Amino acid sequence: MTCSNCAPIEETRTIFSTGRLAAAITMAKEAIRDGILQDVPGGPMSSVIPLSDLNPDGPWDDLLRYRFRCTTCAQVFLLSAETYHGSGGEWAKEPG
Ligand SMILES: [Zn+2]
Repeated sequence: MTCSNCAPIEETRTIFSTGRLAAAITMAKEAIRDGILQDVPGGPMSSVIPLSDLNPDGPWDDLLRYRFRCTTCAQVFLLSAETYHGSGGEWAKEPG
């Protein structure tokens, strides 16, 4: 489920290279700042550093995992990346 609030977020979903991770982090931070998304606990694999404290340009944890919820329809989005292997990451709508 998406709504008019988070549809633009969904449209940007993508698998990205590590080089684009900074852009993905910036997008998430801006969406939270604008009240489109809110932070939700990322579960046992979640990153230690709060997104609000994370510098988009790094340094990053080896594994990044952040979850966000649309403030209107509660759809959850997941930002995950494996920076250690340089295999890039994913910005995706969480099935549910
Ligand atoms: Zn929504």
